[in-house]
Amino acid sequence: MKSFDVIAFGEPLRECHHETPEPKGSEVLLKVRAAGVCHSDLHMSGGGYDLGGGKTLKVTDRGVKLPLTMGHEVAGEVVSFGPEAQGVNAGDVRLVFPWLGCGVCPACKRGTENLCRAPNCIGIHRPGGYADHILVPHPRYLIEIAPLTPEQAAPFACSGLTAFGALKKLGPLLQTAPVAIIGLGGVGLMAVHLVKALDGFGAIALDIAEDKRNAALAAGAIRAIDAGAPDALSQLAAAAPEGLLAVIDFVGSPKTAELGIGALARGGRYIVVGLYGGELNFPLPFIPMRALTIQGSYTGSLGELQELMTLARSGRIPHPEVGVEPLSAVNSVFDQLREGTIIGRKVVRPDAI
Ligand SMILES: [Zn+2]
Ligand SMILES: [Zn+2]
Repeated sequence: MKSFDVIAFGEPLRECHHETPEPKGSEVLLKVRAAGVCHSDLHMSGGGYDLGGGKTLKVTDRGVKLPLTMGHEVAGEVVSFGPEAQGVNAGDVRLVFPWLGCGVCPACKRGTENLCRAPNCIGIHRPGGYADHILVPHPRYLIEIAPLTPEQAAPFACSGLTAFGALKKLGPLLQTAPVAIIGLGGVGLMAVHLVKALDGFGAIALDIAEDKRNAALAAGAIRAIDAGAPDALSQLAAAAPEGLLAVIDFVGSPKTAELGIGALARGGRYIVVGLYGGELNFPLPFIPMRALTIQGSYTGSLGELQELMTLARSGRIPHPEVGVEPLSAVNSVFDQLREGTIIGRKVVRPDAI
């Protein structure tokens, strides 16, 4: 089998050839039909995250070992499976849940494998989808996608699930109050779509790029604000006349945190998802005095991905704009992502020309 692997941090992915694995036990081998390119792949192939104050979090400290086949948004077609794999057939086209844990710890047993302390995530800790084949440890991680195509389904495994997992944290507030969405890349734009699909009160969309704000308005946002405007904070606070109670930050930079937390009314919630990096400098007394909640959200659970795909398959979420490139062009897709020129999402396909 062929894959594009990280051989050294900070270098382009390199084409590699491996023995195609034989599925054993409950394992399932799929032929990759589409793999979404995610912004976190840039951090991973670069070797780390900026923690602010000159500190970095090395991905090697999070259990990443090289060489690595990245690609955690994968849809594929079942080729073969081990003798203990139940309920799966050759030819099934499925989305892969990538946020695998150890399977036995309390977090995994609660159904939140994505929060496991010994993660075994596809495309991060074990080989992912920038390849023509992928091995999945158990059929329960495979989710039906029809009538979506593999290209349309792939981004739901991270981009879609990350947006969904963050919005679910708002509970019933989503339906009764506007939510500010900061950062309208693939994930933020998906969140705007989901606010509508979940019958939310409405999304206030913020980005520095006008074309991204227009895309959010087209996706149903009730208002769009230039996050770089000098009065962005007062515009955001004014966009919710009864007081802004929910902000989801898909950038996660010191600037966006200042904007998001600053615009919140008393009792408001700031949920940070983006891994842009940096440090939060905020006077602690303001958290109790303003009764603020500051919460993080990291991807989502298998149950949430199943729920999200049921919603997507019912046609309640318009199919996200997906650009398709051949797998061999993955390094140039990374360059486009670095330059911020992609609207929506890109997927790579091993069989595309
Ligand atoms: Zn991702
Ligand atoms: Zn676990």
